[in-house]
Amino acid sequence: MNHLNNIYHQYQAINSVKRQVDDETAMLHIDFAENYVSKYAEEVQAVHFGASKPQISLHTAVLYHFGELDSTITPFCTVSKNLRHDPVFICNNLKPIIKIIKDLHPNLKTMHFVSDGPSSQYRNKSMFFLMANFLAVKLNVQSLVWDYNEAGHGKDSPDGIGAIVKRIADQSVARGNDIANFEQLITCLYENCRGVQILSVDEENITEIEELMARSLTPTFKGTLNVHQITRSKNNPGLLRAQKLSCMDCRPHQICPHYEIGVISTETVHNRFESSIPSPPRNTKEVLPSSPPHSECTVTDYDSCHSSPERRSPAIYSFTVQQRVTLESQSESAVSLILLPSVPTEKCLYYKCRW
Ligand SMILES: [Zn+2]
Repeated sequence: MNHLNNIYHQYQAINSVKRQVDDETAMLHIDFAENYVSKYAEEVQAVHFGASKPQISLHTAVLYHFGELDSTITPFCTVSKNLRHDPVFICNNLKPIIKIIKDLHPNLKTMHFVSDGPSSQYRNKSMFFLMANFLAVKLNVQSLVWDYNEAGHGKDSPDGIGAIVKRIADQSVARGNDIANFEQLITCLYENCRGVQILSVDEENITEIEELMARSLTPTFKGTLNVHQITRSKNNPGLLRAQKLSCMDCRPHQICPHYEIGVISTETVHNRFESSIPSPPRNTKEVLPSSPPHSECTVTDYDSCHSSPERRSPAIYSFTVQQRVTLESQSESAVSLILLPSVPTEKCLYYKCRW
């Protein structure tokens, strides 16, 4: 019964957001389409049976926003060679759409996202972190709200876009054209899929989001599976409010007395150390990157004073000649404290590293 109530409530809440769109409010409904499996017009048997064919990721979105006179709908499909379907991938796919939204609506104040809620994709601590520290920042909005459909009931207009895109590609193959790779699919869709904005995703930009993600200290939220709405306000940018159902009465910056089940801190390594360690420790010495035995260092732990084990975020950073690395004199455990100015903010971070 609860499940049915949730389906109905979320459906009502999301429909009410669609009716609210204006020049300062927009809504983006997103979903994954199944990967497109490349096809040849005349497939030799070896290809048909067993030979692996390149796959291409399709991520679909429908923007509900205000047009010249009234609310309108703009469908998108982002096309990518990358097959990982995680929050970093999702944000990299949303990046070109965000740019279009910002160009169309420079005065946008509230951005709603709607998705279904599989925990590996849209509803997890990494996605929560990126909502606050990537999406809201790129959109530069006062409020970001993410509404989740009840599990298993997220199929809506984005699903239809995936079907249209694939049908157009398959029709092209049926006419004798090969779609054997990413470039051929993009060309086919640009030529034939006029009703949907097709966007090719730039894979080179994904490292910016990966580096940001590596700095996340966002803990797992215990009630994650019950969350149906996340809100983030510019007034308190590092904090997300989690609601068990989408509230149609409270504003995004308000505490919801109806459905709130907790808050999620999306602090970054940079935020913590910026306030706690303003300058390099006295017992450090500066060395050039050629001094360490390897030019790469696996970050195994943050300063233990500032991180619990569950918040560790291992990552590999490469040092370049331009970057200056400060090493603490070697401790007994061969763990060094290094000062790593490699993140986009150019502020230094402290990590314990094992060489
Ligand atoms: Zn409320």
